Amino acid sequence: MIKKPAHYEEMNDPQARPRYMGIPTFFRCPATQDLNDADIGMVGVPYDGAVTNRNGTRHGPRAVRDLSSLMRRINAATGIQPFEAARVRDLGDCWIEFPFSVDKAHAEIAAFYKTVVAAGVMPLSVGGDHSVSLPILRAVAEKRPVGMIHIDAHCDTGDDYLGSRFHHGTPFSRAVEEGLLDPKRVIQIGIRGTTNDPDMWGFSLRSGMRVLGMDEFHDKGWRYAAEEARRVVGDGPVYLSYDIDSLDPAQAPGTGTPEAGGIQAIEAIRMLRSLRGLNFVGGDLVEVSPPYDVGDITALNGATILFEILCLLAETVQARKAR
Ligand code: MN
Ligand code: MN
Repeated sequence: MIKKPAHYEEMNDPQARPRYMGIPTFFRCPATQDLNDADIGMVGVPYDGAVTNRNGTRHGPRAVRDLSSLMRRINAATGIQPFEAARVRDLGDCWIEFPFSVDKAHAEIAAFYKTVVAAGVMPLSVGGDHSVSLPILRAVAEKRPVGMIHIDAHCDTGDDYLGSRFHHGTPFSRAVEEGLLDPKRVIQIGIRGTTNDPDMWGFSLRSGMRVLGMDEFHDKGWRYAAEEARRVVGDGPVYLSYDIDSLDPAQAPGTGTPEAGGIQAIEAIRMLRSLRGLNFVGGDLVEVSPPYDVGDITALNGATILFEILCLLAETVQARKAR
């Protein structure tokens, strides 16, 4: 066996040792395959086989793991200590053996997450393109539909594109059809950009989702968006899906479908901090595409947002344990 560091106790604590040292797991958490050792399972989903424009998000989990190693143990704004509140573990990547078949890849992802969820572990994932949220929801919402806070430049409630109904522009229309989402408890925040069809996101409105577009966000601010999110999802089970393209491209250039005029990182962070105490069942950060990134800014903002989401989930875990 190789000897452990002997001079400083904190060198054996992954969150205390120098941040540039060691294998970069998510937030420098212990890596494990043992689901009995985890309350929150961080998972990479390196899949970008369902994109309609620029690819590269298969490299997202590694870039976010690397930049997440910059995060420390305490959320200075809220005081939350996620690694004290819950056993946070890096479960590694969801293996995708059939990347050339969207259906097969999605089936593999769903099977992986069903194992995680059956063990009572709450998943927090990093994609990957946004199509991966559908198979994750097939596991998380297998027993009952859930609500969702969805932050994105796009509603992702589209339909057939070039012969496929399953791509990164459709996870949430399919999720409603499959009974995984209760659309009346879904809010979509940050929507903007051009469309090819005046009804491109009509599914959202017809199914009863609350669409809080970027103009409304810009007029009324992050506080109002958070209040609306709390009102829409209520106290039932809720999933949080964060598409990095919701941020302004100046702060998140490394993504496949950038849209100008987006949310500022500080607005996203403060909005997320205003969502404490909800009944979270999991979350994801998707669409970070390192090949298009500049100076790791997208991966850094992504990792920072991921930490805020982790804090929310860890508080939910802690509250459930205390009951
Ligand atoms: Mn999306
Ligand atoms: Mn998007």
